[in-house]
Amino acid sequence: PPATSSHPGPTLTHCPYCSLQCGITLRPTVRGMPGPLALEPQEGFPTNRGGLCSKGWTATSLLDHPQRLLTPLVRVVRGDRTSAFRPASWDEALEQVVEAVTGAQDAYGRDAVGCFGGGGLTNEKAYALGKFARVALGTAMIDYNGRFCMSSAATASNAAFGIDRGLPFPLSDVARAEAVLLVGSNPAATMPPAMQHLDAGRAAGATHVVVDPRRTPTAAGADLHLAPLPGTDLALANGLLHLAIREDLVDQEYVATRTTGFAAVRDGVAAYWPDRVERITGVSVADLRRTLEILTSARSAMILTARGAEQHSNGTDTARAWINLALALGLPGRPGSGYGTVTGQGNGQGGREHGQKADQLPGYRKLADPADRAHVAAVWGIDPEELPRPGVSAFEMLDRLGTPGGVRALLVLASNVVVSAPDVNRVRARLGALDFLCVSDIFLSETAELADVVLPCAQWAEEEGTMTNLEGRVIRRRRALPPPDGVHDDLWVLKALADRLGRGAWFSADPAAVFDELRRASEGGLADYSGITYARVEAEQGVFWPCPQAPAGEPDHPGTPRLFTERFATPDGRARFARVEHREPAERPDAAYPYVLTTGRLMAQYQSGTQTRRVPATSQSSVAPEVQLHPDLARRLEIGTADVVRLSTRRGAAHFRARVTDEIRADTVFVPFHWGGASAANALTNPALDPSSRMPAFKVCAVAVERIGDP
Ligand code: SF4
Repeated sequence: PPATSSHPGPTLTHCPYCSLQCGITLRPTVRGMPGPLALEPQEGFPTNRGGLCSKGWTATSLLDHPQRLLTPLVRVVRGDRTSAFRPASWDEALEQVVEAVTGAQDAYGRDAVGCFGGGGLTNEKAYALGKFARVALGTAMIDYNGRFCMSSAATASNAAFGIDRGLPFPLSDVARAEAVLLVGSNPAATMPPAMQHLDAGRAAGATHVVVDPRRTPTAAGADLHLAPLPGTDLALANGLLHLAIREDLVDQEYVATRTTGFAAVRDGVAAYWPDRVERITGVSVADLRRTLEILTSARSAMILTARGAEQHSNGTDTARAWINLALALGLPGRPGSGYGTVTGQGNGQGGREHGQKADQLPGYRKLADPADRAHVAAVWGIDPEELPRPGVSAFEMLDRLGTPGGVRALLVLASNVVVSAPDVNRVRARLGALDFLCVSDIFLSETAELADVVLPCAQWAEEEGTMTNLEGRVIRRRRALPPPDGVHDDLWVLKALADRLGRGAWFSADPAAVFDELRRASEGGLADYSGITYARVEAEQGVFWPCPQAPAGEPDHPGTPRLFTERFATPDGRARFARVEHREPAERPDAAYPYVLTTGRLMAQYQSGTQTRRVPATSQSSVAPEVQLHPDLARRLEIGTADVVRLSTRRGAAHFRARVTDEIRADTVFVPFHWGGASAANALTNPALDPSSRMPAFKVCAVAVERIGDP
């Protein structure tokens, strides 16, 4: 039965962290009482099959954490962000937000107010935030932290397949693939329960290849590990396609019947001779050949990319290059085969489907498309002309804060940009130039510390809603206990603000009502949720979109676990090849900054660490984060393990403890991005943007390395 404060019982819900959305069961530890809660994995949930990682096992400790925000905070001296915070009533805090918002819009126009969302918000909240920006505020300025996560693969998939669903097949299909090529993906550390699917394939005889500049746990367990120079994956993919063409391994019938544009790609990759690719990437010709042999000798093969391939100033082209290879080998749409991208954030998929992106409306509709505008405006009960035009991407919005024509008052939900954005020193300065900043979070994050008003929000086990996992499976987040007194969820906050802005009639704080409206807004769109109901999601262990509403009297649409089996979502049903060329990254090593810096995740931490750094059982916050560097480089720079090392780039500097390891290339150093302050990896990273997706180049820049202290 559903657990409520009046009827506590087992609650089937999902981990609050990554896109695997592992199924968990919460039970009250004291019979008849709403909390605290005991947590156990759901044996039967298809993504985790009884597994959890350390983050999931400790997730309940977030609920009664002593640092949890339990009341709104405002500044002692209003308008002075150097003054201390003091507790405030919800009325006072919301009034301050509304006065700041209306003041900014009266003085500078509608777009002087911006919203910054997150890929951890439920579908209902992501939808409500997008609508709030367009209907209550009338601003074009909304984007979210998923722009820093999935946007390059999403842009590439939309262009190639006509639709973007991270995995266009169930995760369980991975076990059916006789060959798997993982590019810039490290599930053994980032989502360990997902390894069950890969391991099942290996046990059945599958061969796995990992492309990563580091010998990660995933790479160490693979049959073959390729460690290219960061920023050269595109050349690697083009080199593999060059070889496939030369050795007559292209699936000609598939290319002829299911795709368009191959001739231009064939001409383009003619220049990617294996020895040239070896010079660009550092991957030997022999390993290139071996990889192609593994992919083409298997009866089923998958190519999966993740952030390592995508977070580049050419991330979209790089994803296109891997899609080109998958299409040439005839993989997408075939059993146990295909191209997919492994989403990171908990609702990274749903978060980008329902209107948080600067250019999108719910159902993956386009804000620039007249028919899409008309459909959504009709559901919202407004004139299409009232809808703003597309705004600007996340970093572009942040980079213009407080400038003439830029946002003057910003509302941030579920995002800690002071840690997660690139070039965070610049972002921090821009936040300081705002007239007003409001942050909603469960803890006083580094971004919340800079705010005028902080709003305490409900968290995962205290709210109802839906999430969409890495497979495109819509699942239920269920309430096991009420939020603490004084804490509200973001739907309530958006409704309360809309009420004060005179637009309350357009909004609801009830998740079920919001989901019902989302279904109608998405109807007929690419991400069609109209046939999905809370009841179905609960009864069926989730429902895969697209799932249109069945005509009256007909059986429910079953949902779509596998896409592309018959046709792609393009107007002619064919997938699109695209000729793409290797470009040097926006920044390469030189005399001043002689090494390559790349960044990524650790198993115990999640994203900006706002939550996981506070979990005692998994936190490494008492230990300085480490920089990984190769023994050859360490010897040359006279650095030993645990020495304090200063990394500096053209944007800033940060300090880390050294970990000397042969798990990384000798010309590259790696740091995790979960920390702010003195060990902020993103004080170093380059905000050069991909021209299509507007993804920053998190994964490669030039860095100087020096030892500054003893262990
Ligand atoms: Fe599962 Fe991801 Fe949660 Fe770990 S963080 S338990 S892999 S959903």
